[in-house]
Amino acid sequence: MSKAGTHTGGGAAERAEAKERQPFRGVCTACGHVWTVAYLPMPIPVFVRTAKSARCPNCGGDKINVADEAIAQTVSENGETS
Ligand SMILES: [Zn+2]
Repeated sequence: MSKAGTHTGGGAAERAEAKERQPFRGVCTACGHVWTVAYLPMPIPVFVRTAKSARCPNCGGDKINVADEAIAQTVSENGETS
């Protein structure tokens, strides 16, 4: 099970670019709309500010959960409340 498969053809630049910009997706707690809030990686302070000021493009709600599975896993590991 390989993540990206093994393509022969030398797409090193493409892979580097894709790795460089990972979309951080948020889900609106009000309406469940999922959208890309920002692209990672970015400096933590910038990320926090972006996430805080981000608003749902669908309903304008400002309460957002992390939609990305990998990141959500990390978050739930840190703040397990069950
Ligand atoms: Zn919404």
